[in-house]
Amino acid sequence: MSFVPPCGHCPDCLRGELNLCAVHVISAFTTARFRIGEEQLFGFSGLGTFAEELVIPAPAAVKVDPDVPFETAALIACGVLTGVGAVLNTAAVRPGSTAVVFGCGGVGISVIQGLRIAGATTIVAVDPVQDKHAVAKRFGATHAVTPDEVEGIKHELTASQGFDYAFDVVGAPATIRAGWDHARRGGSVIVVGAGRADAMVEFSAQELFLHDKKILGSLYGSTHVERDTAAMIRFWRAGLLDLDGMISRRIDFGDLNGGLDVLRAGGGDVIRQVVTLE
Ligand SMILES: [Zn+2]
Repeated sequence: MSFVPPCGHCPDCLRGELNLCAVHVISAFTTARFRIGEEQLFGFSGLGTFAEELVIPAPAAVKVDPDVPFETAALIACGVLTGVGAVLNTAAVRPGSTAVVFGCGGVGISVIQGLRIAGATTIVAVDPVQDKHAVAKRFGATHAVTPDEVEGIKHELTASQGFDYAFDVVGAPATIRAGWDHARRGGSVIVVGAGRADAMVEFSAQELFLHDKKILGSLYGSTHVERDTAAMIRFWRAGLLDLDGMISRRIDFGDLNGGLDVLRAGGGDVIRQVVTLE
């Protein structure tokens, strides 16, 4: 299921930028699709995927082949599409490129997998949580460092030039700015992380033109959800995209709050927790 179902008729859909369609997104927060007696209820993000039964717009449901396990398919939207899509759609990374990725949660791991699929040859994962470094390398990172080690490894790997691509998968001013600082002149900074409306990032007027760097926002991996879900399943079948390895825990309804507590505590080496409906 997709939380950004394309309506097919608005200006964004007609331009082919389906990830920007706001028609169903707005209705998800204004038209209740559930009720208990007189009380109106809204499914979270227009879906409500903790529920056993859902009412959703038809374009929010993406059909997958029956042999794809639900647990595998469930990972694709939104985390994997957002991360792999940022690499293949938003940045259109070229083979042989160098890249640095700030943040190694589920979406960051998907960015790393996307970079490997795109043929990037240097992939530096950055995360303050040491437990995530081994995880990042398991999914294709060639190096994994803490934030205070980035400067050193940039000098070592790029002769101080900076990386071709810098992905922010945190959404904080400090990591977006670090992405800018560690991208090479002419390189790209891709903002994937969901930041706060009041969090401001500073750039000087001079550096914006002088360094010729591109700042690219990436909403939902610039995804065409039907096309790209099918592509993710082809990557998975070909052994290029490890979805099953991203499942760290399986929990049932009774464990939901415990599962959220794990995320609040920073996640450790947990990438994705799947809620089973048995
Ligand atoms: Zn639309």
